[in-house]
Amino acid sequence: MSDQVFLPGSTIGILGSGQLARMMSQAAMPLGFKVVAWSGGADSSSVDREVDLVIDGSYDDEAAKAKFLEMVDVVTVETEKLPPALLQDISSKVELRPNAKAVEITGNRELERGFLESIGAAQTEFRVVDTPEELETAFHQLEGNCVAKTATDGYDGKGQWRLKTAEDLEACKSDWNGDCRLVVEGFVPFVMECSVVVARNVAGEVKAFPLVENIHRHHVLDVSILPGRVDESVAECAKLLSQNVVQGLDYVGILAVELFVLESGEVLVNEIAPRPHNSGHATNDGCVTSQFEQHVRAICGLPLGDPRPHGTTVMLNLLSDIWKSDQDAFSNPEISRLNTAKWHFYEKQWKAGRRKLGHVNFVAPTLDEALAESEKLRAILFAD
Ligand code: AMP
Repeated sequence: MSDQVFLPGSTIGILGSGQLARMMSQAAMPLGFKVVAWSGGADSSSVDREVDLVIDGSYDDEAAKAKFLEMVDVVTVETEKLPPALLQDISSKVELRPNAKAVEITGNRELERGFLESIGAAQTEFRVVDTPEELETAFHQLEGNCVAKTATDGYDGKGQWRLKTAEDLEACKSDWNGDCRLVVEGFVPFVMECSVVVARNVAGEVKAFPLVENIHRHHVLDVSILPGRVDESVAECAKLLSQNVVQGLDYVGILAVELFVLESGEVLVNEIAPRPHNSGHATNDGCVTSQFEQHVRAICGLPLGDPRPHGTTVMLNLLSDIWKSDQDAFSNPEISRLNTAKWHFYEKQWKAGRRKLGHVNFVAPTLDEALAESEKLRAILFAD
């Protein structure tokens, strides 16, 4: 990777066309950059009105690739679920930031655990297994209390099995089709889940956002609190871990490190996302520089922006399962009384399930105020 700088007027190419690509573009355009998104054949309704051009076509469509490469100066990703061969090919022709190896490692739990081991980052005990017999051995070695995860393609609790009993083990053996290796992790009795979103630019400058506390609902992120409610020593330890990760991957761009905090104050890495992260959406309104602007600055070689927070932000995810069926939530006058709310819709089609349709940031001088407003919105909108 070179240390080339891309000035305003240059074109950023994004592999992906979802809400992260949308918000990257919303940050890039005011800085003077052009943006081309290659959808890979996925839905592009989130970016259709927000980028200069969307290129459709799957990631093995050579004509789509040629068109994309012809137009872009620097390429980035909004997902780690990309074919490694495509990333290698793109990086041989144009500047790819973050680098192909970093995206491949963080898109594969087996490679990711190996990388974390190589840099000495604290993580839970794990085994990589290939056969039902190995799974059984790992289950016993991890004291019959573990989480099995597919090495690739899992997200938001999918491709995961919580194993506590012999029945769980048998259910996992029969559900797992054996196509892909499993990483079996010792169950972590965490007291809090949190994340650190950190940026590194081509000059090697590193800046972390304040630690974010994350609360999940049905395995999907529900609420993030920035800054999280942890002791200074925990925040410092998490920040150091995140800095070691970006440096170890020779990373350029924004990266999120998801962490478990133990009762002792020890911090363990759960996983790494090589892109802006849902838990970093609080920075959109809650910090001097958002994670999306920071990503654009990092990949273009500009100096990094100031990550300091404005007071406290509570981010509430808007998933497609929240809408009360019996009323139009926005017809409720209480909504307009939420003075601290900043709305972000992604222009996605409503679909049953838990599709991420948007988020709301409540930015207030105190956590109590931000939390109280987010709870009011939950009471107005949420079905459960
Ligand atoms: P992941 O897809 O790895 O982020 O896992 C989804 C969620 O499952 C995490 O946010 C945790 O709540 C839980 N989880 C995953 N791995 C473990 C583990 N080893 N121990 C305890 N809980 C876990």
